Amino acid sequence: GDFPIETETLVVGAGPGGYVAAIRAAQLGQKVTIVEKGNLGGVCLNVGCIPSKALISAGHRYEIATHSADMGIIGEKVTVDFQKVQEWKASVVKKLTSGVEGLLKGNKVEIVRGEAYFVDANTVRVMTENSAQTYKFKNAIIATGSRPIELPGFKFSKRVLDSTGALNLPEIPKSMVVIGGGYIGTELGTAYANFGTKITILEGADEILSGFEKQMSAVVKRRLKKKGVDVFTNALAKGVEEREDGVTVTFEVKGETKTIDAEYVLVTVGRRPNTEELGLEQLGIKMTERGLIEIDKQCRTSVPNIYAIGDIVQGPPLAHKASYEGKIAAEAIAGHPSEIDYLAIPAVVFSDPECASVGYFEKQAIEEGIDVITAKFPFGANGRALALNDAEGFLKLVLTKEDGVIIGAQIVGPNASDMIAELGLAIEAGMTAEDIAMTIHAHPTLGEIAMEAAEVAMGTPIHIL
Ligand code: FAD
Repeated sequence: GDFPIETETLVVGAGPGGYVAAIRAAQLGQKVTIVEKGNLGGVCLNVGCIPSKALISAGHRYEIATHSADMGIIGEKVTVDFQKVQEWKASVVKKLTSGVEGLLKGNKVEIVRGEAYFVDANTVRVMTENSAQTYKFKNAIIATGSRPIELPGFKFSKRVLDSTGALNLPEIPKSMVVIGGGYIGTELGTAYANFGTKITILEGADEILSGFEKQMSAVVKRRLKKKGVDVFTNALAKGVEEREDGVTVTFEVKGETKTIDAEYVLVTVGRRPNTEELGLEQLGIKMTERGLIEIDKQCRTSVPNIYAIGDIVQGPPLAHKASYEGKIAAEAIAGHPSEIDYLAIPAVVFSDPECASVGYFEKQAIEEGIDVITAKFPFGANGRALALNDAEGFLKLVLTKEDGVIIGAQIVGPNASDMIAELGLAIEAGMTAEDIAMTIHAHPTLGEIAMEAAEVAMGTPIHIL
């Protein structure tokens, strides 16, 4: 037997949910222990957000270097050393994960390596390969994240890849089929298309990026086509035949059965919460049918001293949402009145061009019976966008008709990922179109597009008729 180690707040999982929760709990005076069975930083830093953005930016640079002849830049001799790209990507990940370790240690959080299993509402067992240790806690925060769903008939293998496999390829594939045109499939498909891979996207719904408006995904789809990507919508992947050097994917579209040969197939059809092997059933923690943990507004589960955050609870499975909930849970444990409010959680796709949304979509507002008006401004009427040679897309504001309060915004265009922050702030602060229109935006910047859209809402735009 082992002597239990006592702690106050025990966090399970060191992804963007767990490590942020641990730091905030420590800042608020708790004795904190964090348990991680894999790598610090979780999916996001190791095999998600960060490495995917590194590959995307490398691919984007290559594409720009080789496709800027209309600007007078001729880059025919540009080559890619993909091994070096992978090394660079790994160095970015390493910098961030060791940064997280430094932050945890600097905040006096005890880091425990191993797999946590709940024995009762105040006890976990942490298993390593050849030992086990019991921890007693007052409060726990579960942040065990999610993993890719396997599609029946597409068992992950050397040729049938999940997102992690696709991020870690040793060389640029000649061809790849991507099953699932959600954000992960679109992002990785775009990255490899930019490196020259022949990409085919198979999407079951009638549009890729189906969480966004059709007019937004249409802009992305147009750009994908320009890169030589084939996009099949309403396409049902049926099966895969694997060979030593590649795959043949069978799919059905408009009642017709088709096949494609490729070096790899990437399956990105969603993620499943890691809530099964934690001992949660014996604690009586309430879960939904999908295996998500039910929480209240302070991220508290049905067992009052146990909290849950991130991909294992309802809402969009995004890193910044996990971190946000992590702070709320830690503050709730410290007795603060913090509560979650999902109104202004942004969602971003790092496609080319990028897509971003915060707050309400027009359709959603109408469905909820909110009287709204919308205002749009195109990137094509913005000087900076033209000077960047990247002027496709638009910014759309959703405002209440009665008082012009901004309740939603969508952007498709270059730097949408950064531009959405201003609109999130506007929603959070209850600002009106006039507030944004009256804010002086530097010229020439993409930021002016938000100001101009606000002026469209007010009926007095300067740069469009
Ligand atoms: P995770 O990051 O999944 O971390 C959970 C951790 O818990 C893991 O490290 C795991 O090892 C550990 N763990 C699990 N069970 C146990 C146990 N029993 N004991 C101990 N440890 C355990 N989101 C964005 O916001 N922006 C993006 O651009 C973005 N890009 C993405 C790209 C890809 C390819 C993928 C796959 C995801 C992307 N995401 C992105 C989603 C994002 O990665 C997740 O939403 C985020 O990581 C969830 O954080 P989390 O803390 O809930 O869980």
